[in-house]
Amino acid sequence: MAAHQEKKLAEERKHQNMQNDTKTSQGQWGRAWEVDWFSLASVLFLLMFAPLIVYYFIMSCDQYQCSLTDPLLDLLTGNKHLSDIWNRTPMLTYRAAAIYSLWVTFQVFLYVSIPDCCHKFLPGYVGGVQEGAVTPAGVVNKYEINGLQAWIISHVLWFANAYCFHFFSPTIIFDNWIPLLWCANILGYAVSTFAIIKGYFFPTNAKDCKITGNFFYDYMMGIEFNPRIGKWFDFKLFFNGRPGIVAWTLINLSFAAKQQELHGEVTNSMILVNVLQGIYVLDFFWNEAWYLKTIDICHDHFGWYLGWGDCVWLPYLYTLQGLYLVYHPVQLRTDYAMGVLMLGLLGYYIFRMTNHQKDLFRRTNGNCRIWGKKPEYIECSYMSVDGTKYYSKLMTSGFWGWARHFNYTGDLMGSLAYCLACGFEHLLPYFYIIYMTILLTHRCIRDEHRCSSKYGKDWKCYTAVVRYRLLPGVF
Ligand code: NDP
Repeated sequence: MAAHQEKKLAEERKHQNMQNDTKTSQGQWGRAWEVDWFSLASVLFLLMFAPLIVYYFIMSCDQYQCSLTDPLLDLLTGNKHLSDIWNRTPMLTYRAAAIYSLWVTFQVFLYVSIPDCCHKFLPGYVGGVQEGAVTPAGVVNKYEINGLQAWIISHVLWFANAYCFHFFSPTIIFDNWIPLLWCANILGYAVSTFAIIKGYFFPTNAKDCKITGNFFYDYMMGIEFNPRIGKWFDFKLFFNGRPGIVAWTLINLSFAAKQQELHGEVTNSMILVNVLQGIYVLDFFWNEAWYLKTIDICHDHFGWYLGWGDCVWLPYLYTLQGLYLVYHPVQLRTDYAMGVLMLGLLGYYIFRMTNHQKDLFRRTNGNCRIWGKKPEYIECSYMSVDGTKYYSKLMTSGFWGWARHFNYTGDLMGSLAYCLACGFEHLLPYFYIIYMTILLTHRCIRDEHRCSSKYGKDWKCYTAVVRYRLLPGVF
């Protein structure tokens, strides 16, 4: 009898939580309903300059051995005109278009046609059909989590070709890098344009759409929360993970192959970059189900920011270290290389463990052990839009007791390691750490602003106990 009542109570609580999340979310989730001038200016700046920034970086490697200052100096001193640089830029080719179309089609095929098998034989891996978080309209989407499988199949085929079949050269990606950039841009713009049209005229879930009325803002930040085609093709999950992140490790392998072809060796710096970024990518796919609960999927709408960003920004700028090392084959001293490896692994450990601790804490409602002890936390409450009060917990022990976003700190340490692997001759490979610092600091402030309005005085209590954001004693 007691067990029966307990079960009933648990079910009621679950139902209550679900309603609670739904109601609260209507007011606090996702992007803005109204656009202030600063947001609009930022959106216009990014729409105009982000594609140019990507072009500038890739062109400077292609034409100036990865120097970021030489093209500017050439232009400012009149040594070269913009047209000179543009005329030397490889254009779109049929070959690149064919490679890119094949790649994207293959990834779509792997995503929609092959249900996950990995969870059947990999202990601890969560794959197959999984539920996402409750959307602001109260929908719980189902996702086919098969990214790890897609990654494994793509890489097995890559190695099979490189070592057995020789259908194409492993340097194929490097050899077509700029023509492929045009293809990635075409897809990025096509998918973002399709997303806004779909959002206006045939949204998957009209209640989960946000329209500010400002075309540029809506185009950039997206209208639809979870656009889908059919039951399973989810734009956010597909474009966030594949084709960009599956490609990330293949791009690095292609850069390593090119280094071997040009310089007769693969340097230890190139191996370091391949290994450290490979761990990060594999971690992403191993934890794809957890990823459904992160800010990208839970709060962001699908627009140019995600569509173009995933197609162009991520594969082209997150791989700058490998590209740089093709032009500058840095051979690191062994002790230095070991130091970089340690930093990268330590950063990865902190990143993963911090995320894991929060995940475990929230899944078990605090009934777990963190570093061998019962976790410490602050009870907090928040109101939904209809005035109902709900309860939650903020952990103050483990890595979450060191800083409020120590997961970002780990991520930044890993990012710094990729850059340090490239030596100190040029600024270009350090773009990644600069960008990640801006991205994660902004994300931290954005998230804390949201949490502060959600939890009010309880958030103040929490920040009084855990005083720093990223670095204990510093920030
Ligand atoms: P977090 O995983 O840090 O989630 C933040 C949320 O966690 C808060 O909104 C709050 O949600 C909850 N929370 C905050 N403090 C606590 C606490 N003390 N105890 C329990 N819950 C708490 O943020 P992200 O989703 O942004 O990041 C996920 C990972 O992805 C990070 O490791 C990040 O480094 C990585 N990342 C990588 C990027 C890349 O390009 N490489 C880009 C973006 C992220 P609630 O409202 O539920 O309380």
